[in-house]
Parts: sequence; structure tokens; C-alpha cells
Amino acid sequence: MADSTVEKVHCLIIGSGPAGYTAAIYAARANMKPVLYQGIQPGGQLTITTEVENYPGYPDGIQGPDMMVNFEKQAARMGADIRFGLATKVDFSKQPYRVQIDEEKWIEADAVIISTGASAKWLGLESEQRLNGFGVSACAVCDGFFFRGKEVAIVGAGDTAAEEALYLSKLCTTVHMFIRRDQMRASKVMQERVQKTPNIKIYWNTDTEEILGENKTEAVRIKNNKTGEVQTIKISGFFVAIGHQPNSDIFKGWIDMDEAGYIKTIPGTSKTNIEGVFAAGDVQDKIYRQAVTAAGTGCMAALDAERYLSAKGLV
Ligand code: NDP
Repeated sequence: MADSTVEKVHCLIIGSGPAGYTAAIYAARANMKPVLYQGIQPGGQLTITTEVENYPGYPDGIQGPDMMVNFEKQAARMGADIRFGLATKVDFSKQPYRVQIDEEKWIEADAVIISTGASAKWLGLESEQRLNGFGVSACAVCDGFFFRGKEVAIVGAGDTAAEEALYLSKLCTTVHMFIRRDQMRASKVMQERVQKTPNIKIYWNTDTEEILGENKTEAVRIKNNKTGEVQTIKISGFFVAIGHQPNSDIFKGWIDMDEAGYIKTIPGTSKTNIEGVFAAGDVQDKIYRQAVTAAGTGCMAALDAERYLSAKGLV
């Protein structure tokens, strides 16, 4: 690796969702001269949602993409160096830590904040992507409110699907829940709650064939994978809750993770198993996954990084 391709920075932030930008705001204000690489989807998951009504400080709500533009502007105004580029490889064997960008350039950093987020898993249907944001969503807590008093469907059978079905059942007239096997993966207590909720209608052994509608979601076609029976159900919203994939692949082998790939942090901190490497946002959170919790942990990561760098005499 030629030295000319290496750039040295104090604080490197990987990822540009609420966690990354909040870390950048705090790090810039603490004079850590953060460099932030935005990754493949600048702004993160919020750029594929519509209206955000549950982020404090926006009494009239705000569009997800607009909110992320605001986050970015605020980080830039504080002095964060925000760049387009994807972290493709890391070497955390010794300090300063090395992170490769776009398979080319290497950055050397005294402190690294990982805020690469998670991606919702999708069924892979053409209609699902076409109607994403037009009745199709991967987040009931974000978008359920728009379907108050309406019929919706949800696919999935884990704890997330159970939690989201229960959440939707409080807002919607009927929640049609499609489960591909004859049992749920969710914890027993969640299964019981779902099955005892009168307006959640469970369809066992059921696959989603297509979501129907031109410019908005109007119905869904499902098929029983045991009997072959096909039916079409009128709905206004279709929620996909089949799991998330943390964007942590490049850190495997360096950073401790759980079996699903979520980065482990020391409880109550953003510290990982490697001193000087911190994690914030959805890449380390499979439970809450909210913009506001991601922003909160981004703040924690910048404060932890600042303490680490000042203890080393580096800022
Ligand atoms: P999981 O991986 O646990 O569950 C995903 C579900 O989606 C499974 O039921 C799976 O079906 C189903 N699924 C996957 N692919 C498809 C597909 N193509 N078509 C139809 N169904 C599909 O993900 P979760 O997000 O639910 O949970 C992730 C982790 O987070 C778990 O460990 C969970 O316990 C935890 N969690 C905890 C919470 C809490 O404690 N409050 C809240 C939310 C999550 P199948 O069962 O057939 O494989």
C-alpha cells in the first residue's frame, strides 16, 4: 500500500443516517475534525420513507429525505467533512485504524465511529418496490399512523412482525398477517398476544404473490402453499417485517457481533471490543431502530470518541 494513497484523520465516521450525522455534529463541535463517508445510500433508511411524524422538534412532521438533508446541512455547518464514498474494507489490527474507501483509498483514523445502519429485508416482488412509500412500508411504527381506520396486511412471523402487528391492530380495523409456515418464530408471549387480538387475522402457510395497485396499494394476492388456494384481499397498507440485515459485513472478524451480525457494544456505551472503535445506530440495535434512538447513540459515540482521543492526548 503506497503512502500516497493514505490520508490521516482524527475521527472517521462511516455512514450517514441519523446516527452518523449526529456523531458528526458532536464531533465537529468538539473540534475532532470528523470525516464522514456517506455510504451507498446517503441519508440512510429515512430516505426511503415518506413522512416522519415521531421525531421530536418537527410539530408538523417532515419528509424523511428532507430531514436527512437537514441533518447533513447541520453537520456540514459545524465543520464536518462529508464525503461520498463507501467503506469497503477495514484493518483494525493496530492504531491508527485503517479503513478503505471505494476499494481504493485508505483512511487512517485515531477513532472510528461505525454507523452503517441496517437494511430491511424485502420479499423481492416487483410490486413491493414500485409501491414502496405508496402503501408499502418496512416500518409500522413509522408509517402505521397513515392507515388509521383502514385495513392493512403484514408479512412475517418473528418478534418484529408480532410487535408491528400489535401496533397496527390499535390503529387499523383489520390486520391481515401472512405467515409462510404453520408456526411463528416470535417468542411465545408475543405469539399469544397476536393470537388473542381479535382484529389480527392470521393466514398460515401463506405466501404473498403480488401487491396490487397502480399508484397506491389497493389489494394483495396471496396463496396458501399447502392447498394452492389463491385469494385477493383489499388493503391500503402492506407491511414487510421479515427481518433486517445489519450492514456490518466488512467488520466481521474484527468487531464482536451477535449471530445476526449486529455489533455488540458495552451496555450503556458505544464502545466495541476494539478500543477507539465505536458503534451507533441500527448496526448495533435490533430492538428500537428509531431515528431518534439512532441519533441518541450517535451522540454517545461522539462523546465516547472525544473522551478516548483526549485521554490519548490526540485532541
Ligand atoms: P426474525 O429473523 O426473527 O424473523 C423474521 C421472520 O420473517 C420469520 O418469521 C421468517 O419466517 C419470516 N420471513 C423471512 N423471510 C420471509 C419471506 N421471504 N417471506 C415470508 N416470511 C419471511 O426477524 P425479526 O426482525 O422479527 O427479529 C430479529 C431479532 O430481533 C430476533 O432475535 C428477535 O427476537 C429480536 N427482536 C426482539 C424484540 C423484543 O425483544 N422486543 C423486538 C423485535 C425483534 P420463518 O419463521 O419461516 O423463517
